[in-house]
Amino acid sequence: MQSEINPGSLLSWSDVTWQIAEVDSRGRLVRLGAHPFSLALMFGIVAAGCLSFALGAWQFFSGSQIVRRERDEGLSDRLEKVGQELDEEMFSVMRLLKQHVELSGSHSESLSKVSDSLVSSTSPDRIRAVIQFLVSENKKVQTEVNDLNARLQQSQQQIEKLRISLSDSHRLGMMDAVTSLKNRHWLEVNLPKEVQVAADANDPLSIIMADVDHFKRINDTFGHAVGDEILRRFAELLSKNIKGRDTAARYGGEEFIVVLPQTRLAGAKNLGEQIRSELECKKWMHHRTGQPIGKVTASFGIVELRRGEECDDFLDRADAKLYEAKALGRNRVVVDN
Ligand code: GH3
Ligand code: MG
Ligand code: MG
Repeated sequence: MQSEINPGSLLSWSDVTWQIAEVDSRGRLVRLGAHPFSLALMFGIVAAGCLSFALGAWQFFSGSQIVRRERDEGLSDRLEKVGQELDEEMFSVMRLLKQHVELSGSHSESLSKVSDSLVSSTSPDRIRAVIQFLVSENKKVQTEVNDLNARLQQSQQQIEKLRISLSDSHRLGMMDAVTSLKNRHWLEVNLPKEVQVAADANDPLSIIMADVDHFKRINDTFGHAVGDEILRRFAELLSKNIKGRDTAARYGGEEFIVVLPQTRLAGAKNLGEQIRSELECKKWMHHRTGQPIGKVTASFGIVELRRGEECDDFLDRADAKLYEAKALGRNRVVVDN
């Protein structure tokens, strides 16, 4: 199937990535229309196209798994590095504090010596000498204390930087590298909290569990990179359809969960049906080769939290409904009754 690429409305090209493109029923790229900046943009897009083709080819051959593994390794390396730096900084703070303690110890020692000699001194010259010693000793201590304070302040700033870096890494650890949605780790930490909040306040909470249909076939036919692109498009579709406190997360593979606080089953069902039909209406093609991919569909299992229900049981029920949707022929929404 060959696409008719209209040079107009090239601003819509954010919707047409190098792997797959959305097409209409006659195989034309979707959402093309006239735009005054189109020609100027055309040159940019041709250049970007060459670049992304090279990148696409590289990804095809090397497999995006490698990229993901590198990202994961990057994150754990980063965490380890931040941990080491924090250790070093804490060690240097401890050393500074020890210096502080030793300094005050030696200062009180010399003061007590001076106070002994002051008691036994009677001559004005001797007293003057003691006072001069005290003044110079005091100056020395003041300089050293100022110096230590400055170094402590530096350490404090460094620790603050490391703390921010650690919280960035923490954030990345909660994010899925392929789709940029929240990941399974986020779900494991936050879904039990949402369940608790809803139970405490006696508020409704629903979840949608979604799974792309015959995804293995897509991977096997068009390659892993196209599969990844489908996952990203599906993630975009989920994100576009949620709002407020709703969260879409990748549960694993081609399975996603949408967490819907303050939402009853009926509302969650409407949303699931909306997402399902929007996906079903889209047609895709391989952007580079023009090879049609056709429709991609997904199945949905939807449940509302029951009174006193544990998080695991809540998830199991959603999984069971999703299983039913698959068994009934896929591309459908099954809700709890
Ligand atoms: P069903 O309709 O029953 O859900 O069938 P399915 O083919 O979608 O499900 P199946 O569990 O048989 O296959 C899922 C495939 O998803 C297998 C696995 O290789 C692939 N997969 C898992 N994670 C990723 C990923 O991150 N990217 C890509 N491209 N494929 C992935
Ligand atoms: Mg599947
Ligand atoms: Mg699956």
